[in-house]
Amino acid sequence: MTNKTAKGINTRLAHDGYNPRDYHGFVNPPVVRASTVLFPDTDTMDNNGQKYTYGTRGTPTSDALCDAINALEGSAGTVCVPTGLAAVTLPLLAFLKPGDHALFVDTIYNPTRHFADTILKRFNIEVEYYPPEIGSNIAQFIKPNTKVIFTESPGSNTLEIQDIPAITKIAHEQDIIVMMDNTWATPVYFKPLEYGVDISIHAATKYPAGHADILFGTVSANERHWPQLIETHGTMGLCAAPDDTYQILRGLRTMGVRLKHHQESAFTIARWLENKPQVAKVLHPGLASNEGHELWKRDFSGASGLFSFSLKDQDAQAAKKFVDALEIFGLGYSWGGYESLAIVPNLSDRTVAKKDYGGTVIRLQIGLEDVEDLIVDLERGFAALKS
Ligand SMILES: *Cc1c(COP(=O)(O)O)cnc(C)c1O
Repeated sequence: MTNKTAKGINTRLAHDGYNPRDYHGFVNPPVVRASTVLFPDTDTMDNNGQKYTYGTRGTPTSDALCDAINALEGSAGTVCVPTGLAAVTLPLLAFLKPGDHALFVDTIYNPTRHFADTILKRFNIEVEYYPPEIGSNIAQFIKPNTKVIFTESPGSNTLEIQDIPAITKIAHEQDIIVMMDNTWATPVYFKPLEYGVDISIHAATKYPAGHADILFGTVSANERHWPQLIETHGTMGLCAAPDDTYQILRGLRTMGVRLKHHQESAFTIARWLENKPQVAKVLHPGLASNEGHELWKRDFSGASGLFSFSLKDQDAQAAKKFVDALEIFGLGYSWGGYESLAIVPNLSDRTVAKKDYGGTVIRLQIGLEDVEDLIVDLERGFAALKS
């Protein structure tokens, strides 16, 4: 809608992407379920002479969501895909070819690594991992055939912040495409394209969905890379379902206020954990004790509800005891929903970013429950360590 930059983020989340006047004044867009779209005559069909041509190529529902995301990201175009993982694999397949070299941050979301190590390698693409703190030293990893630098900031499970502008500066001197998995911050707290990223990736399964009930991904591109992205999206047949698309737009409307609550409760619990003698480290980029804190302060406008901590000198067995004692925190993958979760993440896939965290790491997703209740629950975990 009009004059996007002048408005606050929650106003934009509430109104971007769709004008109720376009559909009889109804506040929300219709859910258009479609394969076939009819043409008025054969000439129109031959000339692709109408806006919508087939269900896989976009509907008023997907346009409403994509327009809202483009407004948030500052992107030239956005595609919707059925999962967050598809939002990772689609751009990699769109821009890499046999013989290319692709760099991935070692703190990558594990299924992204698995895709790189299996399918990309099978297609004869060289895959290499770099440490998250690399910054402008990424130059040392670049080869004549480097085509893509894949970033994820903060890193999965251990939350290292990457110096994205330093990386995009070096990459663009050599015509290398930078992709970023920005699921943690969402475009509300970090805007990849403003920092030189070419392709911004989101598991909308997390905060945009917000209720642990939808799988969804979005990929947004700048002007230069949009044609290749939309071409591959159509070629792969990877469109998302209309009901899911509608639900993600619905989630976006409240995402700002939900994120604020996630952020505040996560900070409260992170600071509380920092003062616990049983805790070695709290891995949260919003805390001054974290290595990436200055970068986070420089580039991000907030922190979401996912962070980790380590139990001082405790092995995995103790961490499992801690997590099993929790009653409100659920034990499950994914995050971004209204409910709190805790897991003992497997960090054994790391190759160049192996670190000593001072004890076994536990990852928390802080949900929308009352923070006092969550603290009481975590006390159950600490009590279980003693038993
Ligand atoms: C969850 C997640 C994904 C994948 O999303 P799915 O919808 O579960 O496939 C990708 N990247 C990150 C960082 C994630 O946390």
